[in-house]
Amino acid sequence: MMVPSSNLSSHVSAIFFCLICIFWLGCRSLDSSLEYSVRSGLAEKHEVIYYDVNGATASDLYQSMKKRKLTTVNGKMAYGYTSWRVDWDFDYAKQDGMCRGTNVHVTVASEMTLPRWEPGVDHRTSPLYKQWEHFIRTLKAHENQHKAHALSAGAEIAEVLIASADESCVVLRALAEFDAQMILRKYRDLDARYDISTRHGRREGTVWPPEQP
Ligand SMILES: [Zn+2]
Repeated sequence: MMVPSSNLSSHVSAIFFCLICIFWLGCRSLDSSLEYSVRSGLAEKHEVIYYDVNGATASDLYQSMKKRKLTTVNGKMAYGYTSWRVDWDFDYAKQDGMCRGTNVHVTVASEMTLPRWEPGVDHRTSPLYKQWEHFIRTLKAHENQHKAHALSAGAEIAEVLIASADESCVVLRALAEFDAQMILRKYRDLDARYDISTRHGRREGTVWPPEQP
């Protein structure tokens, strides 16, 4: 967790978020992990939720994942999934004839769902487990890219809100909201195009059962 050193309100916010973090961690089962960080107007909350799968063959594991009916993307099964949202609020204040955005708070919350297979020790050196590790590595890399889009959206929105200025506070409010919505839409589109271009990660190697050489 990074705590800003700029001012008291940032510290208060950071402490508040820490308390939420501790409370949240206390309530979660060990099936998930949560990260929280706060930096210059941008707070990030990231949670990973695991669903357990089991089996002794690639086909077993596929069926086990399928049974979860995790998420369907365009009617297709998804092995992993990342959802995210960006929320923001800000005030404005007029000084020397210019109204400027102030007290900017942007929150990026993402939730990543991944399969988890924990076979017995004797399976851990098997070719199947090596294939599984590769699959999970590529799946995580794909889902992390979705998370990165969310963080980029949040950072850009925070930047625009902090820099917002206009002679009229009414205009500033409207323009800043419009700009933030446009940035959000840009990253939503980018996220959707990423899935189309990679075929939801398949082109990056996220394929199960593994293709035979
Ligand atoms: Zn995807």
